[in-house]
Amino acid sequence: MVRAIVGANWGDEGKGKITDMLGEESDIVIRFQGGSNAGHTIINDYGRFALHLLPSGVFYKHTTNIIGNGVALNIPYLVKEINDLVEKGVPAPHILVSDRAQVLMPYHIEFDAYEEERLGGKSFGSTKSGIAPFYSDKYAKIGFQVSELFGGEELKEKVERVCQMKNVMLEHLYHKPLLDPQKIYETLLEYRDMVAPYVCDVSLYLNQALKENKTILLEGQLGSLKDPDHGIYPMVTSSSTLAAYGAIGAGIPPYEITDIVTVVKAYSSAVGAGEFVSEIFGSEADELRRRGGDKGEFGATTGRPRRVGWFDAVASRYGCRIQGATEVALTVLDVLGYLDEIPMCVGYEIDGKVTRDFPTTVSLHKAKPVWKTMPGWKCDIRGITEYEKLPQECRDYIEAIERELEVPITMVSNGPSRHEIIKRSK
Ligand code: GDP
Repeated sequence: MVRAIVGANWGDEGKGKITDMLGEESDIVIRFQGGSNAGHTIINDYGRFALHLLPSGVFYKHTTNIIGNGVALNIPYLVKEINDLVEKGVPAPHILVSDRAQVLMPYHIEFDAYEEERLGGKSFGSTKSGIAPFYSDKYAKIGFQVSELFGGEELKEKVERVCQMKNVMLEHLYHKPLLDPQKIYETLLEYRDMVAPYVCDVSLYLNQALKENKTILLEGQLGSLKDPDHGIYPMVTSSSTLAAYGAIGAGIPPYEITDIVTVVKAYSSAVGAGEFVSEIFGSEADELRRRGGDKGEFGATTGRPRRVGWFDAVASRYGCRIQGATEVALTVLDVLGYLDEIPMCVGYEIDGKVTRDFPTTVSLHKAKPVWKTMPGWKCDIRGITEYEKLPQECRDYIEAIERELEVPITMVSNGPSRHEIIKRSK
């Protein structure tokens, strides 16, 4: 059985917590896209963790955690993240890395920073983890697969060829120090030794696991609106954030993914630039930002304050549709307990017309939010585990969201810890 856990919004919906929770019942957890550019926050008996590259199943002894071929693999970062866990008392996790994953090179990080610097005020707000240069190289066919590290002399020749190209850009566009191919080659040999214990033919491994009816979780990073095809292009990430890509980024047949748990946040937040129709500003935003998440809405990778807004039904319904959501986990609902009234964006006004359908970026640019307001519940709902025990106003808010999403809400997260969850039947 394969289940995907993905985000419907701009990311930071709380996928880490849901994956950690469902990871308990899983044999395998896989990261299938992205890199160390976003964080999953997990709070459990070992403490509070911000995982960036590792799958969120690493806290269970019975779980195999896989870095799929679709991931941007920062090898030193992977090793650091594993060591950090062990240092904090977590038993050494079982980790496999696809032999088809590509290696995030040190120069990808440099190029990411140089490009942001060059763009100045028009920058993407990149986390400077090297993700865009990494995927550009992958599709330009000048990336390095893990398997190539174990090849022979060809590696050295390829490094020289790639550096020649990169050095033209460094010299003439960025005016930065040039790459030394010999040094890069030596770095790759170090990477090879670091990753060697984990390398595996992952699609073959998963094929066997499927035959044995193992429970597999695909863990997405970011959310629908950051998808390069279906998101708010160009303010998107560089790999697909959709459940469908899980099949490719892990190496399994698409029809094996039967459950798509789509995580929707009870209000909105976004890091980086890009269209965000239900965004709020000033003291209203400051208060939500301060109260949001488990420690305020600040980026898990960069510490940057996140942009915040009210729940956006137009964007979230689209986010669920494009994921193919079979069920929804509604998260961080507890944060809204301070409000007398809760605004919800239920339409976009574009050129004088109201729409419920999420448009392309050109129209989004002109969209103004159409608000509906619901009464708040004015109390702390953390720790409640039965749906019927939630205040009426709170249930009304959840059910209004469910009607807007057109997907059943099967889980309501009312606190950052694993057990702060309310389960509902479909
Ligand atoms: P991910 O990128 O989707 O995994 O999202 P994050 O891990 O960045 O989650 C966003 C933040 O919300 C983190 O600080 C979590 O600890 C926190 N969080 C997740 N679920 C809940 C919840 O139900 N209530 C509260 N208050 N915080 C939550």
